[in-house]
Amino acid sequence: MAWCYLIHFDIPPRGVQQHYIGYTTNIAQRWGDHQAGHGSDLTKLAARQGIRMTLARVWPNGSRELEVELKSRHGAKRMCPVCSICAVSEALMLGSD
Ligand SMILES: [Zn+2]
Repeated sequence: MAWCYLIHFDIPPRGVQQHYIGYTTNIAQRWGDHQAGHGSDLTKLAARQGIRMTLARVWPNGSRELEVELKSRHGAKRMCPVCSICAVSEALMLGSD
């Protein structure tokens, strides 16, 4: 099986990009590689900086084509469950007074 996946960074490693979208045929090994600092350049940087990464979403039956499509949407934040939860929390706090 192949997967596309979205990683959420608590702090953007380069100051701007808070998400990473990737493709793999072994999600467990690839996620371990990212966490250990052996993944992509961006996740290597995050690991070196001690930035927490969350495997926020996976797409089973992924493909290189889907990876390219997901990246071309330029809307990782809208696809990210972690960011959605943060938005709900902020809305609730804003509405509490
Ligand atoms: Zn996010």
